[in-house]
Amino acid sequence: MKDGWGPLIRRWGIILVLVLVAVVVRLRFSGDAAITYDRILACSSCGHIWGASLDTDDTFPVKCPECGQMAGGFAYLCNNCSTVFAFIPAPSSMPICPKCRKTDCSRLTSLSASEE
Ligand SMILES: [Zn+2]
Ligand SMILES: [Zn+2]
Repeated sequence: MKDGWGPLIRRWGIILVLVLVAVVVRLRFSGDAAITYDRILACSSCGHIWGASLDTDDTFPVKCPECGQMAGGFAYLCNNCSTVFAFIPAPSSMPICPKCRKTDCSRLTSLSASEE
């Protein structure tokens, strides 16, 4: 009387397949949906703002994809007057708002914050 084992094994087989499918789907989707930018850059020449991924060169200034000038730095947002400006990282220099001259600025982490 070993009839009882058949349905049990089949059930576990189905669960295993479902788990595998879920893992594969999750991997597939997380790979596609991960269009998050590691850094938001801004051009100090033309004001263009763009997102760059991890493999972007770390040497500043970077080339602006809009105007082609070597004038790209990190995009910073002034917490005082909401001006978005480019800050090119350099030793012993701090991001300062070009409009109100405040140093109370934070780095942009998403493109949506800068879009009107
Ligand atoms: Zn530019
Ligand atoms: Zn400001």
